[in-house]
Amino acid sequence: RRREAVVATTRLSAGYGAAPVLEAVEVEVDPGEMVAVLGANGAGKSTMMRAVAGLHRPVEGTIVLADRDITALKAHAIAGAGLALVPEGRQVFPEMSVRDNILMGAYRRRDLKPGPEIDALLKRFPRLADRIDQRAGVLSGGEQQMLAVARGLIARPRILLLDEPSLGLAPAMVRELYDALADLRDEGVTILLVDQMATLALAIADRGYVLENGEVVTSGTTEALKGDPAIEAAYLGIA
Ligand code: ATP
Repeated sequence: RRREAVVATTRLSAGYGAAPVLEAVEVEVDPGEMVAVLGANGAGKSTMMRAVAGLHRPVEGTIVLADRDITALKAHAIAGAGLALVPEGRQVFPEMSVRDNILMGAYRRRDLKPGPEIDALLKRFPRLADRIDQRAGVLSGGEQQMLAVARGLIARPRILLLDEPSLGLAPAMVRELYDALADLRDEGVTILLVDQMATLALAIADRGYVLENGEVVTSGTTEALKGDPAIEAAYLGIA
């Protein structure tokens, strides 16, 4: 492991009851990198994200965040150490306003300047500007996803974890969201991204890992992965 990694897992294994789901997974994200984890339905992508965020206890292995071993920490402590998870299914608070949902992400910030920081996020996600005082529950799926990303960003995390951000979104929304994610990458935000739509993730990430049945079967730059037959095999479930 290179010392400067923002997040690095070592032989990370996890499961549900006796069923192993992740086996000895080693994933690393360096500062300013956007890294994609690819794999079919059920390959273990969400379990990996949840384990890194402290929402699922690993059976074995270690997780390091900015040189600190966070393996045994609870989710709130990991968030405090600088990790923000944008969970699968967005999980916004439907009864709260868009503004209050965003501010929920900042509850640890002592130096928050709510006015200018929310303005900056609304420039990034203009669709949210018209709806800032509405209940989050009335937003479309794409708008809720943008809100969930904004809520993650306002924490000013060392790393942003995005679990299936394109899931269930209309194609135009997916494009808009991915354009915003590409901007974040260009600005040097460190991102670990899981998406079932491999071509999308490969188009914007710097590097990728392919998970198959809970194991990393191949990894490399996205340029190299684009031509790798292991990608197709992983999605077709061919071992
Ligand atoms: P998906 O895109 O479908 O979420 P994934 O790659 O994210 O796929 P996981 O959600 O991590 O995969 O699931 C990996 C395996 O773990 C699957 O076989 C799934 O059925 C199983 N699994 C996930 N969550 C649980 C749970 N809470 N209890 C039992 N088994 C689970």
